[in-house]
Amino acid sequence: MSAVDQQFDVVIVGGGLSGLLACKYIKAAGLTCVVLEATDDIGGVWKYRDRPNGKGGVTFSTVSTSSKSVNEFSDFPMPDDYPPFQRHTQVFKYLNDYADHFNLRDSILLNREATRIGKTGELWTTKDSEGDSYQSRQLIVCSGMHQFPNKNYEQDPRYRHATVSMIHSSSYKRLTDDYFGKDIVIMGGGETASDLATELTHAADSVTVCIPHGQWLFPAVTPVEVRTNGARRATMVSDTFSSRLRRLVDPTFATFESHLQTKAHFTSRTFEKWGGKNGHGIAEWENDAPYYGQFFNKNAQIVELVHRGQIEPKRSIRSVIGDMVEFCDGSKKRADLIIFCSGYITRFPFFADEKYGGAINDRFKFVVHNDDPSLAFIGFTRPLVGSFMGLSEMQSLYVSKLFSGQIALPEKAVRDESIAEEKLFQELIFSATTNRIEGLVNFQSYMDDLASLAGVRPDYWKLFFKNPVKWYFAISAAHNNCQFLLNDETFHDEIFRRYRNYHRDNLKVRVHIYPLIVNLVPALFNGKSRIVMAIQDALRTALDYSLILLLSPVLLFRVFFPPDRRWKRKKRRMIRSGRAGILLEQVRAKYASEMDS
Ligand SMILES: Cc1cc2nc3c(=O)[nH]c(=O)nc-3n(C[C@H](O)[C@H](O)[C@H](O)COP(=O)(O)OP(=O)(O)OC[C@H]3O[C@@H](n4cnc5c(N)ncnc54)[C@H](O)[C@@H]3O)c2cc1C
Repeated sequence: MSAVDQQFDVVIVGGGLSGLLACKYIKAAGLTCVVLEATDDIGGVWKYRDRPNGKGGVTFSTVSTSSKSVNEFSDFPMPDDYPPFQRHTQVFKYLNDYADHFNLRDSILLNREATRIGKTGELWTTKDSEGDSYQSRQLIVCSGMHQFPNKNYEQDPRYRHATVSMIHSSSYKRLTDDYFGKDIVIMGGGETASDLATELTHAADSVTVCIPHGQWLFPAVTPVEVRTNGARRATMVSDTFSSRLRRLVDPTFATFESHLQTKAHFTSRTFEKWGGKNGHGIAEWENDAPYYGQFFNKNAQIVELVHRGQIEPKRSIRSVIGDMVEFCDGSKKRADLIIFCSGYITRFPFFADEKYGGAINDRFKFVVHNDDPSLAFIGFTRPLVGSFMGLSEMQSLYVSKLFSGQIALPEKAVRDESIAEEKLFQELIFSATTNRIEGLVNFQSYMDDLASLAGVRPDYWKLFFKNPVKWYFAISAAHNNCQFLLNDETFHDEIFRRYRNYHRDNLKVRVHIYPLIVNLVPALFNGKSRIVMAIQDALRTALDYSLILLLSPVLLFRVFFPPDRRWKRKKRRMIRSGRAGILLEQVRAKYASEMDS
């Protein structure tokens, strides 16, 4: 395709997962577009490259941390034989199949980096690395959050006298002989830090993991008994705990209500019961962030490695002199290598005018530029639990409807209020991480908000009156983006096929209320003999249904007055009365010392 000085409705920068989704939805909305991709292939971080290229990307052994139910796109299921968590090669293949299925390749130009983007009058002009330029009425930036490694350690005075090798995680691609017999220190509490630490224990003499601000660690698979397709399994993929019904029983976001006196809900109590404080109980990595008030690291296998003595947990580094690392607890250790899993900085160097870049939190719903709504950013929010994939799809759908005029953008005053509210509550709720992680969102509530704006929020009432059994299936199924097609009955066969795949027996609410039962009667679940198990089964079923009965008034109330709507109204009241501001000051004071450490 030759696109020299061509005009398009939309130019899309970046051909990763977000760029592909944006392209698909923009084309489906009847608009013309071109996708400019800087590298020689689509797929973004999911394209494995054996040599570090200074950008973030999967390593040789990366497996997705989010699972199939939240990863697959609404109208393009992952193959049935894909495992719950996919190898990076499988995600990459899925993205390529997606591009083929929706005929996206004709709209993608490879090896074309957008180098300069400016706006004159109503038209955006995008220049690429080949010297070609493209004009468009609208622009979507999908350049990704993993382009510019955060190497702040290079300026950090603590490492001024270090002679030990120090690298950013983006330089690590695979386990090689170079790591054999080495003493390695890893800085960071995110999933990359966990992945690298786990892998390096296979070769290194010692692996020490420092998590400076503490971290919630959340097992990707939880020890909850479920029955799927008639077979009993002793575990459940944690992502599939995400049904609407569970959110009614245990509305996680309500914990935000009173940040300082966090209400511990069933699920959080259960995780603490299983693993200890912050889901792991390792003193060096604990913090006071409430459940759902901090990004969850779902690669919790490092916890077991700590207990097995393969990983040494530490809080932070006080200084490094030569190759001697002194930790904040006063202990010292010689190291051969420090790997900084310090994340990435989001930048948009291609904008001729800096005002178009700006902070993620300054955009309407983290997507639309508030002063120039012909500019949108997709793929710049992070889910607490959930997936980038799901978020990028919903953002793409929303932007396509907006850009094609199918829906209107709320008035500026409404947008301003929404942005101010999001900002304030971002800081309030995610105070333990917000200074370091931009665009963190509560996956389900955020998706629902965008779905409402895009006019695709499922009409559960209509479904209830039409087919209560389907309604129950739908509200008790795991989160899957196909739910946003529920209002269109032509998709029902596929939607309910997927739901059945995740929870064949979801008419039993057991899965959703199990955490509650575990809290009440944990002793009942430790039996071994057949008789004990039969008694357990009977008791469990009795308990399930008595709890459903007990809870039904609460559930009924919550169905009619959904907690997320009440929570939204409460947020407004808190802002207007000034209570939110006071709370924020308290939270800032509480975390000030923590963040400084
Ligand atoms: C190791 C790793 C594991 C991950 N695992 C998960 C997971 O399990 N679940 C999950 O939900 N998320 C995961 N993520 C997050 C991941 O970023 C998202 O899944 C997703 O790939 C984001 O897609 P994107 O298109 O927004 O960004 P990217 O994949 O980064 O793609 C951006 C694209 O834009 C291109 N580009 C950048 N600048 C320009 C320019 N100026 N001109 C033209 N092209 C440009 C880049 O070359 C790239 O191809 C993981 C990330 C990493 C690094």
